[in-house]
Amino acid sequence: MSKQRILRLAAIALTSACGAKTTVPTRTAPGPAPTVSTARIAQGVDLSTGLQRDTLISAALADVDPAHIHHTDSMLVSFGTRNTFSDTLSTTRGIGAARRWIHSQFDQYSRDCGGCLKVEYYGKVQEVRRTAGRDTITRTANIVDVLAWLPGRDTTHVVVMTGHYDSCICSATSSFDSTSNAPGADDDGSGTSAIVELARVLSKRYPKGLNSSVLLVAVAAEEQGLYGSRQLAEHLHEQGYKVIAGMTDDIVGNTVAEDGTTDSTSMRIFAADPDNSPSRELGRYVWALDRVYMPNFEVLPVWRLDRIGRGGDHEPYVMLGDAGLRFTERVENYNRQHLPTDDLAHVNFRYIANVARVNAMTVASLASAPPTPTNARAARQGRALPDSSGARPTTPSSGGQAWTLSWEASPGATGYELLVRRTTSPTWEELIPLGNVTRCTLHRQLDDEWAGVRAVGADGSRSAAASMPAPNPPRGTVAAARPAVPRGQPAGPPPPACGA
Ligand SMILES: [Zn+2]
Repeated sequence: MSKQRILRLAAIALTSACGAKTTVPTRTAPGPAPTVSTARIAQGVDLSTGLQRDTLISAALADVDPAHIHHTDSMLVSFGTRNTFSDTLSTTRGIGAARRWIHSQFDQYSRDCGGCLKVEYYGKVQEVRRTAGRDTITRTANIVDVLAWLPGRDTTHVVVMTGHYDSCICSATSSFDSTSNAPGADDDGSGTSAIVELARVLSKRYPKGLNSSVLLVAVAAEEQGLYGSRQLAEHLHEQGYKVIAGMTDDIVGNTVAEDGTTDSTSMRIFAADPDNSPSRELGRYVWALDRVYMPNFEVLPVWRLDRIGRGGDHEPYVMLGDAGLRFTERVENYNRQHLPTDDLAHVNFRYIANVARVNAMTVASLASAPPTPTNARAARQGRALPDSSGARPTTPSSGGQAWTLSWEASPGATGYELLVRRTTSPTWEELIPLGNVTRCTLHRQLDDEWAGVRAVGADGSRSAAASMPAPNPPRGTVAAARPAVPRGQPAGPPPPACGA
């Protein structure tokens, strides 16, 4: 080492010891020079995510009539009480009269469309348990749902939309009070009236049905613990139906909050965890449809099962692993819920009509489209590395830049679309048309994103998306008990690139 070089190092050591900033040369590691990253990250796009307006659905929305909804709700209130334990024999008062009247309305719409609806009751005698303070009260009731089926070309898949026709003044007396007036004009005369209106409008516009069946239901005994909805959801599963969506309208007619603030231009949808659950995908679908059909009536997605500490009739479907959704008003008024003051004077029927339009575009879009692809999976591809023999076997790779995406063909689909979003984005941000394939290689770092696949029909209709990777079903649910999908390297050569 030269004398000069030694002196310079000593000088650096001295200045370093005094804490002065020094420049330390860095060694360049062998290997390729750093390049600008080519990893793609989804960027925000239009919320409608490629969904198209359908003229027949638009016409159905225009048919929704606030005056008709008002008439239906007035009739429901006229039965005095629709409490689960109220009179079932009277023709003018109690829950029995109410359900026979709803049945008669469905029958009338079916006659008007040449018998296109199949109208029936589904009921069970059940024990109803309620705990009040230290006491648990058990009573028996015949819990009867009123069903209007609009059979589809494919009768194995069904889109379910419900409202509960029972009422109570549980906050004033008890949920077993079978005789006091319980108008329930908003909870849930509003939702039931919307369901009856959907039966009228959809049977008129689609007398030959849609691709999948539509099931519109006035369900019973929600106020005692979702009994009517649960018995129906379990029955549909036992019968082997594939439920595309299990949705409910509950409390959809109030526009004035307790503090006097009003909101008549937006509504909420509640969709359960996790972030890539079927319910969330359904929520994203409705959010997108709203931008296409009703941009002046805002759908506000809330990524929760329901309001804090409360529940609704979509829950039994969520628990069975289906996509579930609650539609509800933007502002609630607890001064009237479950009280004798939940009357017609405090219900906004033009507002319910807009909620019914959001229901109609959701139900008609889902039932028009091929079903959401099932068994959607994302598997990390291995990297081909030479071994000692010179062969290039595929071995597991810790990298994540290539993924095999796969799903089962959706009946009636003529193609598929890939949707991509950042894990922090509430909705899809990028759309990649795929053509009619059920496997492809995604060259993206999927560890940082969510992907989803949706089915496209010949008429441009689109299903809700299925997440890739698939969600883990919520713990404790029936779906969680099913055998796990096997993981690991996909066999065979990688498929062509997605969208190639
Ligand atoms: Zn309710």
